[in-house]
Amino acid sequence: MQDQRIAVVTGASSGIGAATARALAAAGYSVVLGARRMDRLREVADSCGGVARELDVTDPDSVERFCAALDRVDLLVNNAGGAIGTEPIAEARDEDWQRMYETNVLGVLRMTRALLPRLIGSGDGQVITIGSVAGRESYRGGGGYNAAKHAVAAVMRVLRLELLGQPVRVCEIDPGMVETEFSVVRYRGDEERAHAVYEGMTPLEPEDVADAVVWVATRPSRVNVDSMLLLARDQAGAQLVHRR
Ligand code: NAP
Repeated sequence: MQDQRIAVVTGASSGIGAATARALAAAGYSVVLGARRMDRLREVADSCGGVARELDVTDPDSVERFCAALDRVDLLVNNAGGAIGTEPIAEARDEDWQRMYETNVLGVLRMTRALLPRLIGSGDGQVITIGSVAGRESYRGGGGYNAAKHAVAAVMRVLRLELLGQPVRVCEIDPGMVETEFSVVRYRGDEERAHAVYEGMTPLEPEDVADAVVWVATRPSRVNVDSMLLLARDQAGAQLVHRR
C-alpha cells in the first residue's frame, strides 16, 4: 500500500523491540526490523508481516547496509541497547562501558543520522528512542549504564532542539523494570540472578512499553510527546521497589 507508514525498529529480535514491532504492525505500520540474531528476528517478522534485516548498530558498515536498503521511513524506534554488568566504578571494565556506549549511544546516533533525511523527506517523521529510568536517576552499580542512558537523554534533547521547524517529532520513552532478556544480558547469562531481579514484584511487560510507543506514534502530528517515564506500580524509583 502506497500510503502505509513505514516504521524501523532496532533490536526487534526480543523483548521491547519485538513487542513494539508487533504492536506497530497491528496499528497499521509496515515494519522493518533490525537485530543481529537473524533466526529470532525472522520469527518476529513472520509473526507480524514485517521484514527482517540484519543490523549491528555498533558496526557503521552494517548500519549503512541496513539503511541503504530503505526507501521511505516515517518512524524510527531506537530500541537496541542494554546493560552489561553491575560492578562498582572502582572495578569497572573498559570493555563493558565501551559496549554499552557503542550500543546505546553511538547506535542511536548512527541510526538517527542515517535515517534523518528520509524522516524529514516523509513530511511527517518521528524518532522514538527507548531510554531508561537509569537515564534519569543514578544508582550504585549502575555506572556505565547510567552514563550511557544519561547520554542518550542528552542526545535526544539536542535532537529535539535541532529539529525544531522540521516535520520530525522526537520522543524518549524511559521504562523502569520490564521483564525481558535485559537482566540475562546484564548478568552475563546468569539466569538465576536475572530472575531474582523481579522476585516478589510485578514488572512491566514488553507489551506495556510497546503500547506507549504506539500511543506516542499515533498522536496527531502537531503533538510531540517529548518524554515519558513508564514504571510498574511496584517501582517508584530506579532502586525503590516494593516486593511482597
Ligand atoms: P532485550 O530483550 O535484551 O532486547 C535487546 C534487543 O537489542 C535485542 O533484540 C538485541 O538483539 C538488540 N541488540 C543488542 N545489541 C545490538 C546491536 N549491537 N545491534 C542491534 N541490535 C542489538 O532487552 P529489552 O529490555 O527489550 O531492551 C530494549 C531496550 O530497552 C534497551 O535499550 C534497554 O536498555 C531498554 N530498557 C530496558 C529495560 C528493562 O528493564 N528491560 C528498562 C529500561 C530500558 P540481538 O542480540 O539479536 O542483536
